[in-house]
Amino acid sequence: MVVVLRGGVPQEKIEPLISWLKGKGLGVREFHGQEQCVLGLIGNTAGVDIEMLRSLDIVESVGAVSDPFKAANRKIHPEDTVVSTQGTGGGSLGGGHFALIAGPCSVENEAQITLVAQKVKEAGATFLRGGAFKPRTSPYDFQGLGEEGLRLLLEAKKATGLPIVTELMELRSLPLFEEIDVIQVGARNTQNYDMLKELGRVPNTILLKRGLAGTLKELLMSAEYIMASGNENVILCERGIRTYESDYSRNTLDLSAVPILKRLTHLPVVVDPSHGTGKAYMVEPMSLAAVAAGADGIMIEVHNNPAEALCDGPQSLTPEQFADTARKVFKVREALA
Ligand code: PEP
Ligand code: MN
Repeated sequence: MVVVLRGGVPQEKIEPLISWLKGKGLGVREFHGQEQCVLGLIGNTAGVDIEMLRSLDIVESVGAVSDPFKAANRKIHPEDTVVSTQGTGGGSLGGGHFALIAGPCSVENEAQITLVAQKVKEAGATFLRGGAFKPRTSPYDFQGLGEEGLRLLLEAKKATGLPIVTELMELRSLPLFEEIDVIQVGARNTQNYDMLKELGRVPNTILLKRGLAGTLKELLMSAEYIMASGNENVILCERGIRTYESDYSRNTLDLSAVPILKRLTHLPVVVDPSHGTGKAYMVEPMSLAAVAAGADGIMIEVHNNPAEALCDGPQSLTPEQFADTARKVFKVREALA
């Protein structure tokens, strides 16, 4: 339920209403817009007399939110959420702050991550990505450097100032992620609800990928799990879904997800055209299309030598290709401004 208060109501008149609503066992999210305050009520509102609420002099209107996602709902929080990462680098995302997240699929060694971090930074990247714990389809493939990979990422952050985005595969490793700016929940873990609840209790920003065959409502409900446990710093990521097309692309990148999600939720939306297509030649056109569709950021895999990459070489751009794509991405942003 959403309670829209009249413009200019002083906080001392709002507080008693909030306490009363909390006394009914409801979660209350207070959103102060430029002109009005909106209270989003989360939980079972059956015990609240809507007509009584409507009759209060500080209340302008009361409306129901029938969608199952509440905290993530734009009806409850009308303005875009801007997530800002902890630490250095000024990595803000959403509400007009555009993020260019780039780096290798996986951290392979110090020389590789140091070089790629430097190159993507020069090209305008605002976050460095890189997997230390890798979800691989085959147990015989490179599984990532693990804790050592996290250490190398933090070294690269020290050298470049770029905040880090890296994937958490299982809760057991969470204590190692304390200094990581953005914890990625991969497509294989989008519905790992125990993990999502736990990530609701950490200060880090969470980048939540869409499930391999996940609907947008399922993605929003996964975000709701994190938010319901107390962490509002959630970024949604479209990374392509399974469809009947498998000959020419790894996944089908669903760019319609961008305007749909932007309408339904206030959370920032990022597009990953690397996993979304699986092929390097499609990364640039899909990046430009994602920006034109209104994405708050894009995430691109970049490798110094894609042919020799231990993971996802075919979809990785070289640093030079990335620099070219980044330049065009910024031009599209300018054209839209
Ligand atoms: C990744 O970003 O490295 C990754 C494994 O992505 P996804 O979970 O989307 O497959
Ligand atoms: Mn990858």
